[in-house]
Amino acid sequence: MSQLLFATTPLDRAAALRRDPVRLQSLRHGPDALVACFWHDLALLRDDRALLAHGNEAARLMELASHVVFLGLLENRPVFALDLGKMAAEADGSPPQWEAGAVWGELRAIGPTLPPEDSTILATGRALVNWHRTHTFCGRCGGPTESREGGHVRTCLDQSCGASHYPRTDNAVIMLVADGDKVLLHRQPSWPTGMWSILAGFVEPGETFEHAVARETYEETGILVDDIRYVASQPWPFPASLMVGFTARATGGELVVDRHELEDARWFSRADIAAGFSDAHRADGSGRPYLARPGSIARMMLDQWLRG
Ligand SMILES: [Zn+2]
Repeated sequence: MSQLLFATTPLDRAAALRRDPVRLQSLRHGPDALVACFWHDLALLRDDRALLAHGNEAARLMELASHVVFLGLLENRPVFALDLGKMAAEADGSPPQWEAGAVWGELRAIGPTLPPEDSTILATGRALVNWHRTHTFCGRCGGPTESREGGHVRTCLDQSCGASHYPRTDNAVIMLVADGDKVLLHRQPSWPTGMWSILAGFVEPGETFEHAVARETYEETGILVDDIRYVASQPWPFPASLMVGFTARATGGELVVDRHELEDARWFSRADIAAGFSDAHRADGSGRPYLARPGSIARMMLDQWLRG
């Protein structure tokens, strides 16, 4: 079974430290500080690690950051996420070059190649850095906001408002719908050619997770479900989702694909998948379909189901 990406918890979030600005300031400039760095949606890597400290590298990167977020303690070392989005791109538009040996990577691609603690910390950092970048103004009065509590709150500077804003997490359900020996898979138009996965959708205000599973399945495919059971969850910071995984049993309805949302949806038996699907994680040139990549909650639930 593939390991669930972004779902380990190496960090002590040390929330009490967020309200101790003097201590945070000293940790930030101390010799033990580790930094996870972002330039727009790319993360900085060195030697296949994402947490940088070497020499005074962390301190110099800190100086260049437009947002700094305290993520917590990793084996008692403070970890900060840095937004380096103000660094200028190279003349050809490529990401800014940092020191020799450092490269930029996209988290969905590099996540599975990193040590689990690095990929989980990057997922946390990416979500928070993106939130700061997109919430510099107050959603209530339009005034400017300022980072507080180590970057876990933004407070409106307009004195008649003063609203506090917190990082958002968008709940999404992802569901493995089975009918006996068949599983319901779909394709979205934006996906790479050949990739199939289980259904998913955002939870709407006023819904339970179970309602969202049943509604999304019916809206997208016309299939009715019950026996909805929680399996696991996975942070998915692209930009701010939490994928909440369920299994569900099809009880009726007729497969009618919502072509506004999906490219296709079909039932596949275990034998169909064993015989017809490639083991590759991307199109392998054979023209055969393949399943969502290892590390995703979709793939974890599919692997569990395929084993019966
Ligand atoms: Zn305000």
